[in-house]
Amino acid sequence: MHAVQNEYAKRKILLWDIDGTLILSTTRGSYKLYFASTMQKVFGSSGDLEAVMPSGMTDTQIMYESLKNKGFTPEKILSKRDVLLRTFKEEMLKVHESGKESYRVLEGVEEILTATLQKQNFVNALLTGNLSVAAEIKLRSVGLWNYFIDSLNVFGEVSCNRKDLAFEALRRFRERYKFNFSPSQFVIIGDTPNDISAARAIGAKVLSVATGRVHGKEDLLKHKPDALVESLKDTEQVLEILENL
Ligand SMILES: [Mg+2]
Repeated sequence: MHAVQNEYAKRKILLWDIDGTLILSTTRGSYKLYFASTMQKVFGSSGDLEAVMPSGMTDTQIMYESLKNKGFTPEKILSKRDVLLRTFKEEMLKVHESGKESYRVLEGVEEILTATLQKQNFVNALLTGNLSVAAEIKLRSVGLWNYFIDSLNVFGEVSCNRKDLAFEALRRFRERYKFNFSPSQFVIIGDTPNDISAARAIGAKVLSVATGRVHGKEDLLKHKPDALVESLKDTEQVLEILENL
């Protein structure tokens, strides 16, 4: 095997969820403000947004779930991708800059991102249901965007189904590195059962974190993650888990 390929065969690709994993909103429910106005502008209605439980969903899935009773399909939502991203960014920034929305970094996050960045065998990227524009606004606001600015990230505009995001990550990494990474070289780190099922869909490993608002430890354990931590606080412990998954 070629030397560089040998090197790639040892890599662990860490795919980080955002909400409930890296950061938490300190203004609960504020997302509804810009989801509603964006959906009004792009689709003419915000449908059942108030009734949708967004945890673990992609942003486009939240829109689909809100609008499916009005005859919208995932394809119809995704066909508006460009105008959706543009409008979403404008609407989100209005809310964000007015101070109606803010975020905080969860405990241990900067430490584990720094530690994995310094280790040659780890690669960090985002695998998030957030639209790219939302991910950037949120992570910039808390100083975490630089960790992912050059990463091979996958965002919520890819699909209304989180599993598709995992397939896209696998595809992009193989294409970029021209190396046939094994699915088991990928570790999805997230706070919901949807993160676990996305990992299972591609044969990736999964580390669950019980720092989200909706799913506690017992709840997540029912979905059988490969590992679970209460939080990312203990950098050494998390590093050891990631090394051994
Ligand atoms: Mg999450």
